[in-house]
Amino acid sequence: MNICPHCQETTRQVKVGRTKAGSQRLQCQHYPRRYTPQPKQQGYPEQMRQQALS
Ligand SMILES: [Zn+2]
Repeated sequence: MNICPHCQETTRQVKVGRTKAGSQRLQCQHYPRRYTPQPKQQGYPEQMRQQALS
């Protein structure tokens, strides 16, 4: 189930293609903005990053 981050609607979420990273792009038909419901995690998990910095 995809939830619009702008209006929290789960209905009328239309697929509009993909990002360069390959994530699904959706567009809410209640609110004319495109968004990525599940952005791909970039780089390392936060815990590994903390270890690298310390
Ligand atoms: Zn919306």
